Amino acid sequence: MGMTGIEIYKLLPQTNCGDCGVPTCLAFAMKLAAGQAELVKCPHVSEASKEKLDSASAPPVLPVAIGQFKTGGETVLFRHEKTFVNPTGIAVLVTDAMADADVDRKLAAFRDLRYDRVGVLLAADLVAVKSESGDAAAFEKLVQKVAGAVEEGLILMAESADLLSAGLKHVAAKKPLLYAVTKANADAVGTLALDNKCPVAVKGENLDEVIELTQKLASMGLKEIVIDPGSRNMKKAFEDQVVIRRAAVKNSFRPLGYPTIAFPCEMTKDFAEETLFASAFIAKYAGIVVLSDLKGESLFPLLVERMNIFTDPQRPMATEQGIYPVNNPDENSPVLITTNFSLTYFIVSGEIEGSRVPAWLLIMDCEGLSVLTAWAAGKFVADAIAAFVKKCEIADKVKHRSLVIPGYSASISGELEEELKEWKITIGPREAAHIPAFMKQYQP
Ligand code: SF4
Repeated sequence: MGMTGIEIYKLLPQTNCGDCGVPTCLAFAMKLAAGQAELVKCPHVSEASKEKLDSASAPPVLPVAIGQFKTGGETVLFRHEKTFVNPTGIAVLVTDAMADADVDRKLAAFRDLRYDRVGVLLAADLVAVKSESGDAAAFEKLVQKVAGAVEEGLILMAESADLLSAGLKHVAAKKPLLYAVTKANADAVGTLALDNKCPVAVKGENLDEVIELTQKLASMGLKEIVIDPGSRNMKKAFEDQVVIRRAAVKNSFRPLGYPTIAFPCEMTKDFAEETLFASAFIAKYAGIVVLSDLKGESLFPLLVERMNIFTDPQRPMATEQGIYPVNNPDENSPVLITTNFSLTYFIVSGEIEGSRVPAWLLIMDCEGLSVLTAWAAGKFVADAIAAFVKKCEIADKVKHRSLVIPGYSASISGELEEELKEWKITIGPREAAHIPAFMKQYQP
């Protein structure tokens, strides 16, 4: 936020009515300045003040929506300073110069390559549709085809406003990203974006040209802008990403305060190298990366990298509390319990799955802490576990009353037996790697 608490206070009604949930306007102003409150909480602020405060409270990298997909909104240079906000969008490129079968294969990959990890669905987000032939009818037809297969998240790429307009004909309601405004077409493409309320990308020959273009679009009233600095050499492109983010975050330089788009697909013909470039752009600082193809061996690692970078470092990753069936268990299958730290869930459920022994896995909400940490924090202790076991209704799913606890929580087994008098408590392995051997000999 660019304004101090006192500067914000001067723009508030100063009536201390408390309707915002804070006793005084000054306290509310201080919260706003610290980014701990939102202006909408004050229903009495004037429109004129709202406008000033809105722009002052905007994040250094402005947010952009492409249909349901969101990019930008970033406030820090390094993830550990706070958190990154909107994960880098992964897009696949299709063009009107491609054979139909190739386009179909890429759209099928876009639809089918989805991964469930830690309860989160990982998938590519956008399809970039490019006019290479310069033929408006061919571009319109391709855009229509893609729009039929992809609900949201379109990028329309063409050199002129006329071509973009042809592509936009049937998909304006999906709010695609129009790529790109250049020096040659700025007025026409800017007007097209304004008229259709679409986000727009600028492409400059260098950063000076980008600055000129974003300033021009901002003066036309466009707020949702994405930057392509134009560099296609990896070293320069990487440097541009860092310069743009630093200028926005450290220097509050508004002309570069927009999310970026990077094109690893235009930087190399080697797909493995392209994947490596995309990986670097996900780490620093692309809002969108465009790939030439989607293949599991490339997409999955990129998605996992993205997930790791864009999780909030202040909040442990957690799995939802509940009963997880593994290998189709029945009423005689063993019951194991552990905490909801995602990594714990993943490793334990993976090892049970690998053992091929059907089992019920109880995942208990311990605020995302691992077994030992949750135990030390008083969250994975006998009375809490007993309360969860009773509440989760596992007793309705099994005939026996045997519960396996993690080896690291052996010290609570006696206490747990006291709390769960009907249940026999067994101490399981300390290390997840020993679970398969344990499962093969364990009888509930
Ligand atoms: S609601 Fe607005 S006017 Fe009332 S105390 Fe809060 S900031 Fe002040």
